[in-house]
Amino acid sequence: MNNNVKICSIASGSNGNAYYIENGEEAILIDIGISYKQLKNRAKARGIDIRKIKAVFITHEHSDHVRGLRVFSQNYDIDTYMTQGTAHSCRPYYMPAKAAKRIRCGETIEVGPFKVFCFAKPHDVAEPCSFRIETGGLSIGVFTDIGCACDGLAENLAECHVAFLESNYDEAMLRDGKYPEYLKRRIASDEGHLSNAQAVRIIEQVNPAKLHTLILSHLSADNNRPQIALKAFAHLAGRYKISTASRYEAGEILYVGEKECTGQQQTIVFPERLDRVELKVL
Ligand SMILES: [Zn+2]
Ligand SMILES: [Zn+2]
Repeated sequence: MNNNVKICSIASGSNGNAYYIENGEEAILIDIGISYKQLKNRAKARGIDIRKIKAVFITHEHSDHVRGLRVFSQNYDIDTYMTQGTAHSCRPYYMPAKAAKRIRCGETIEVGPFKVFCFAKPHDVAEPCSFRIETGGLSIGVFTDIGCACDGLAENLAECHVAFLESNYDEAMLRDGKYPEYLKRRIASDEGHLSNAQAVRIIEQVNPAKLHTLILSHLSADNNRPQIALKAFAHLAGRYKISTASRYEAGEILYVGEKECTGQQQTIVFPERLDRVELKVL
């Protein structure tokens, strides 16, 4: 087992998404929906070295997932992976400097110490996908922008030790809020976003046995609040370590290893086996 895995949500929400996973000297990003400048600043604030990023995986063409790709790719020699449908539907000025590599749903890509599983998800774009990453004996899921629970989500969530799971909106806040009707319908549809209640049901139904840390992600600024999302999950808090990803700053770094580290990082210590994890917040 490699002891140097670091996980961080650099941005999460409708104004930008970027999820960072590092193993030793290499790292990957899932989505890059904030500007290159923001990415640099947020990463620096958490001591993340973005020069380690070797590849970026794009879930779909919405700008909150791809906005920073072009400029980032002009500054660093990275590989980009996206489905054919995403590549065709993505605005040309977001596309990377170096031709993006195609990835198919159902496929697994290996980049350095990372094994990246790609699977289809229901969302109102051309060919959306979610990713689950295996590295250092650890399985990490990034599951946002999903209209409804699907088999792929259940199967992959069941494998995760750490999962970013969308908890986009509170159903009453969306219903009673200021959004126009067409937008409310779009968000709540089976190709929109997951509500807090839907996300709770998914965790209850899948009952992921290996899951240790659950980070509620892509929270709406208008139709949700971190404390409301956390309240919906309160009955699961004894079983999993649950937090929310911020839209405004990079989150705490989740460090996975056998050695404790100092500072403000959250450390998951794996004494011998992955299913016997113990969390230490230093
Ligand atoms: Zn999004
Ligand atoms: Zn989207």
